[in-house]
Amino acid sequence: MSHIIILETLHKAGYEGYIVGGAVRDKIMGLTPKDIDIATNAKPLEVMELFPKVLPTGIKFGTVTVMIDDEGFEVTTFRADGNYSDGRRPEEVFFSETILDDLSRRDFTINALAEDMNGKIIDIFGGVSDMENKIIRAVGNPMERFKEDALRILRAFRFSARYGFEIEPITLEAIKEAKEGILLISAERIREELTKILMTDNVQKTFSLMYETGILKLILPEIAKLYGKEQNHPYHIYDIFEHTMKAIESSVKEPIVRWSLLLHDIGKPIVKETVDGVDRFHGHNVQSVTISENILKRLKFSNSFIEEVLELILHHDIQIEATPRAVRRLKSKLNSTQIETLLKVKEADIKAQNPEFLDRLDTLSEILELSTLEPPISVKDLAINGYDVMELGYQGKEIGQVLNTLLELILENPELNTKDSLLKFIPRKTFH
Ligand code: ATP
Ligand code: MG
Repeated sequence: MSHIIILETLHKAGYEGYIVGGAVRDKIMGLTPKDIDIATNAKPLEVMELFPKVLPTGIKFGTVTVMIDDEGFEVTTFRADGNYSDGRRPEEVFFSETILDDLSRRDFTINALAEDMNGKIIDIFGGVSDMENKIIRAVGNPMERFKEDALRILRAFRFSARYGFEIEPITLEAIKEAKEGILLISAERIREELTKILMTDNVQKTFSLMYETGILKLILPEIAKLYGKEQNHPYHIYDIFEHTMKAIESSVKEPIVRWSLLLHDIGKPIVKETVDGVDRFHGHNVQSVTISENILKRLKFSNSFIEEVLELILHHDIQIEATPRAVRRLKSKLNSTQIETLLKVKEADIKAQNPEFLDRLDTLSEILELSTLEPPISVKDLAINGYDVMELGYQGKEIGQVLNTLLELILENPELNTKDSLLKFIPRKTFH
């Protein structure tokens, strides 16, 4: 309730103060808001004078962060945005004296609500009734609003996905008209919105709508290409696009897992071969890796995220038997976190295939169980090391080769991992 102190302090000093945006929306829906933003007619410097601890976090845009008991609250001066010359960010920020202006510049009616210190809701655009009717509707003229800032197109899909709301028809029409504007939006902002959409329960519905409106083709053309691509195979009852979407929805809500699933079959159309009426996609994992690397770099993901996702895509289709031997092999290639994540990907992949073959899920849990029992094995776990091999006359690269051969042996026969028996398996060097 610390935010009430801020509203009261502003009020006592003769200013207005409201909770605005997502916090009001989430409270009305009975959800816990992530953070509470406050809007006021006090200017940033005036706000700074009123509270003992204030950080100038975005003073140019009218935002300061007021600290109350180690919790930060963004307090932003009422704004009326200036011209948008390029469909991106406002050129300059105009402060305003009225909450009306501040609410008018917001994107959707459900986000254009304010609440005063007595809990009274200010609802100029019908946000509360749109919330009751589960509708995403642009504030003001939708076409103008999307032209001003095309990121709002993806925000519309994001809020629709998160809450299971429909995009109101005129707003949806404007999205179709204004869609090219998305090409001006930075990769990072597109990436963040896509990730948020992927983390919801309505991925299939939302991506299908993004396909139908033409947005998907502009931001992820490689995924748009999967739409309606049949796969005639006993394991599959859905086309590639539907399968991809269902796999995402069947999975845990972790960005790594969901991005991997979005991209895991993206290479299928390239390698498709039909033999006796059955489609084969031999080597699609490798193609998927190549295409995905392109996409992930274009969206400016971090190198570590890209590496992890590509690793999962490469291995998503490997057959692993639920035997100690097979699991030891897997553990020599991937660490335990990677294996756990891979099994999450495989589980979702199987769940989105033909339900007749769901018994493959049992194999996955057996693998997981075995992988907690089997210790990880790598060259450094061998009972001998490089020096021992060197003493037998091996040099340079040969040493690594010998150790790797011994590792293969140990993965199959762990009981042979003693110095004596390993030495017996190393061929004697003949000296000339
Ligand atoms: P979340 O719960 O995901 O944080 P949010 O509604 O708080 O959702 P933010 O991106 O944090 O979303 O933005 C806070 C508020 O600022 C929004 O509720 C909306 O009123 C306004 N807003 C944010 N981005 C835009 C935009 N591109 N155009 C217009 N208004 C925006
Ligand atoms: Mg927010």
